[in-house]
Amino acid sequence: MEEDRLKQAIEVGKASQDAIVSASRLVKPGARLLDVAEAAEKALRQSGFGLAFPINLSQNERAAHYSPSLEDQTTFSERDIVKIDFGAEKNGVLGDGALTIDLSGEHGKMVEAAEKALDNAISMVKAGIEVRKIGAEIARTVESAGFKVILNLGGHGIEENDLHTGSFIPNYDNGDSDVLEDGAIIAIEPFITTKSGKGQVTEGDNMEIYSYVGGAVPRTPGARKVLHEIESKYPKNPFAVRWLGSGMSRFSLYSAISELSKTGCISVNPVLIEMGRAPVAQAEAELLVEKDSCKVITLAKRTG
Ligand code: MN
Ligand code: MN
Repeated sequence: MEEDRLKQAIEVGKASQDAIVSASRLVKPGARLLDVAEAAEKALRQSGFGLAFPINLSQNERAAHYSPSLEDQTTFSERDIVKIDFGAEKNGVLGDGALTIDLSGEHGKMVEAAEKALDNAISMVKAGIEVRKIGAEIARTVESAGFKVILNLGGHGIEENDLHTGSFIPNYDNGDSDVLEDGAIIAIEPFITTKSGKGQVTEGDNMEIYSYVGGAVPRTPGARKVLHEIESKYPKNPFAVRWLGSGMSRFSLYSAISELSKTGCISVNPVLIEMGRAPVAQAEAELLVEKDSCKVITLAKRTG
């Protein structure tokens, strides 16, 4: 990988990792998700970066893609296990990482198992390795600790302006003989659940994260106005509804979003929920694949 790109990836990765750790310090019983989301996103923007995607604050059986609306009064509870997934952006270079905070004190072993699975996976990464072998190691680690992997979530390649591309990196041996390439940037992200879980996620109702698609002209002026805002501010990376429509009523904004979604101008990334409604833990690192090993670009660790 050329020097310049690598430098940028490392800079963006460090900003992503710092942003995740800072956000994790705000996640406390009684804190509102909206306040944590807005503080974390504002801090990252003020440090001179864009956002690769809206912060995901996913509690308990929500595995990923929960981001609060402006009306969301939800708070964190002392019974929660919380996944914080976030990333910075600069000149199209994207960062990605995640960690899990256990406020309940009941899921420490599960969080550790996800982290251990990630560490074991990282130690195997090098050019030429089959993705299914990484998945097999993740599943082995998770199952030996008494937990279950989520089968339909996994890691991915990361390229400029494209957070999910290239290889899919499964959390089990899915038989895929696809190999990692020297110089590729990837994310590995074990999602795991308890034995009472189904080990799969399904889409839920919370729809606050969208991506621009384009290609159609919406009928109503409100939808055209919101589309224009999306095209000018967030043409490349996922955005949150709460970032849009200042000066519009919430009703007009959501009507516009609904129309844009129906016409295919934008696509939704709905919250993903464990099918057995069991709690989920996640760990995620971003890595540069090298000939004989890998370089860690993000690896957010829990602090005290
Ligand atoms: Mn992520
Ligand atoms: Mn990811």
